[in-house]
Amino acid sequence: MVDGKTRILGVIGDPIEHTFSPAMHNAGLNALGLNYTYLPFHVREDRLGECIQGAKAMGIKGLNVTIPHKTNVIKHLDDIDQVASMIGAVNTIQFIYDEDNESSNQNNESSVRTKGFNTDGYGCVRAIEEKTSIKDKKVTVTGAGGAARAVAFQIANSGIDELSILNRNVNKAESLASDLKANLERIGIDININSYDLDNLKKELSDSDIFIDTTPIGMYPNVNDKPIASADMLHEDLVVNDIVYTPLETSLLKEAKLANAKIVYGYKMLLYQGIRSFEIWLNQEAPVDVMEKALLDVLGI
Ligand code: NAP
Repeated sequence: MVDGKTRILGVIGDPIEHTFSPAMHNAGLNALGLNYTYLPFHVREDRLGECIQGAKAMGIKGLNVTIPHKTNVIKHLDDIDQVASMIGAVNTIQFIYDEDNESSNQNNESSVRTKGFNTDGYGCVRAIEEKTSIKDKKVTVTGAGGAARAVAFQIANSGIDELSILNRNVNKAESLASDLKANLERIGIDININSYDLDNLKKELSDSDIFIDTTPIGMYPNVNDKPIASADMLHEDLVVNDIVYTPLETSLLKEAKLANAKIVYGYKMLLYQGIRSFEIWLNQEAPVDVMEKALLDVLGI
């Protein structure tokens, strides 16, 4: 029930009507009996600054940020977490009120600070860690777009040994790899990072421990797309994660099952990025099972 003490969380984007986040977060908030509600907000690019100022003025506790605002929102924030800063994209904003007394309309702008995080890559790492530790492993990533960037930076900061990035347009793979190397060098992380075109995929997978496909191949309605790798390119010691979450079992994951590889469903990344946001805002453990069930229900899988 919403009352005078209810605090607000939400998600901003343009468009926003297809978001799955309210169902997942409200289920978690209700399960813990927290007097919070999570709402979608349609925010246009030219109103982003006003949105952040308005959220501060209204005592909003946290926002998720989705397409197209993940990069442009950064200039409106006071502080940014190290990995989010390297990625250059934020999907979670924490509003920190000096005098947070649970009464939202007591707050004013001067006593509020904002901090941006990127929990997308964390979501992918935590999903994979349900099946295997990623420490000292060789990881191969296909794709070099926005999702690959978040995943690659988080993975590279998580104790792996080697990372290969392969993309149809090899220039984009090279550019992501060199950006990654430069950023890691600055903070003293030394790992082997390679970039190739997709013709090298079979060879790279042969000695990989973890394979993450970040391309949209096989995503609904193109469920019969030829998968990026067939069973003969995979092996039973490989953990295969397709970050596409509709359908549940993509053509790549079907091939992975044929090869007896371990599989990680794409919705798990979506789940755990939300879990991490929830924990940043509320400073307590999120009810994973409840939020997972709500997410699967809203996804219809
Ligand atoms: P993006 O920025 O557009 O990047 C797409 C990448 O996929 C590019 O590197 C592109 O290669 C490659 N690609 C596209 N079609 C291809 C094809 N037919 N064959 C080979 N490569 C192809 O997209 P994004 O934002 O990274 O998102 C990618 C996918 O991840 C989407 O399906 C999205 O729904 C999913 N996603 C899932 C989660 C989650 O939580 N599970 C989170 C974010 C995104 P080129 O550079 O050669 O064009």
